[in-house]
Amino acid sequence: MVKCMTRVVHAILLPVLLALLVACGSGEVADNDVNDNPTSSNMATGEVTTAEEETSDEAGSERPQDSSTVTLLNGSSLDDGVLLGWAGLAEGQMQSRVSNVLMLVYDVGERIEPLQEIPESESVEHEKLLSQEQIDSLMAEFEAWLDADGCMSQNAEYRADEIEVYRRYLERGGDASHMRALCPQTRVVGIGLTDSLRNREPASETEVFVLHELYHAFQQDLEEEGQCRTAGDAEDSTTRWMVEGGAHYFSTMLLVNGDQDKGRELIYEQARQSLSESSGLRENSPDRKGAAALLLMIDNQLIEHESVMDGSLFHGCAREFQFGNSEPGMESIEDQWSQF
Ligand SMILES: [Zn+2]
Repeated sequence: MVKCMTRVVHAILLPVLLALLVACGSGEVADNDVNDNPTSSNMATGEVTTAEEETSDEAGSERPQDSSTVTLLNGSSLDDGVLLGWAGLAEGQMQSRVSNVLMLVYDVGERIEPLQEIPESESVEHEKLLSQEQIDSLMAEFEAWLDADGCMSQNAEYRADEIEVYRRYLERGGDASHMRALCPQTRVVGIGLTDSLRNREPASETEVFVLHELYHAFQQDLEEEGQCRTAGDAEDSTTRWMVEGGAHYFSTMLLVNGDQDKGRELIYEQARQSLSESSGLRENSPDRKGAAALLLMIDNQLIEHESVMDGSLFHGCAREFQFGNSEPGMESIEDQWSQF
């Protein structure tokens, strides 16, 4: 059963600048792609508030939304409470928050065969489960959210393009599984829940999937330009495994309620599976392999567990400036990460 409910959760915190597109297969292979977007330097105040209100209240408002919020647009069969609970759990771990996040979650049916790729997306077509009315309603909310965003409100053409992109996802049943940074601080978590995720996989798969994408939305320095971007784009960069590894580490640890021993076991078990498919840290499931490499960094006292969990490892491009592959201690991570 599909229902369409919308709520807004506001949790306001600090500012900064950043952005990127992180697309991940449903809990499987992760694949990074960077989109070039206008940048913004909107600053929000350090106030912290929590509120819950109907999105329709926002729709009529013209005021720019510069604050770091998480907004849920739920066109899926999962309860709002469940999704908001995961968002709150993930957000609550963060040392600070700067991005304006939209979670667009919806159900899709069986995959259409032969495969039909959806243009400008990483997804293929599935049976559409949402009615046209539901899609129109979700898209109206999406548009209102873009209009209220401090950065997106500045560019009508760009907003129209993005509306097209997401309408296509909904109308063609795209199995979205991504975090896209539309602006450095404007992040969309798109999740098309497949029939298999909803009905065949354990519920924990969906939880890990959602927590993983939310973590990307909270990784503050993904869109840092200049030297950070140049270093990160290199074939052998740390970025190529640490961004995904961080998200997998985080979601796995939360899944086991922060039990680090259990989390470690699970990370190793999954990394072992991925390692049997290919040995490179940056290829095929860099999320699972990267999480194992982060464990070695923790064991070697290069970083602490907390810096992954509270997102501070992804402040100021530490992954390249402190932990780039030529930095002290990182060579042994590259060489030994798989020896667990
Ligand atoms: Zn990812």
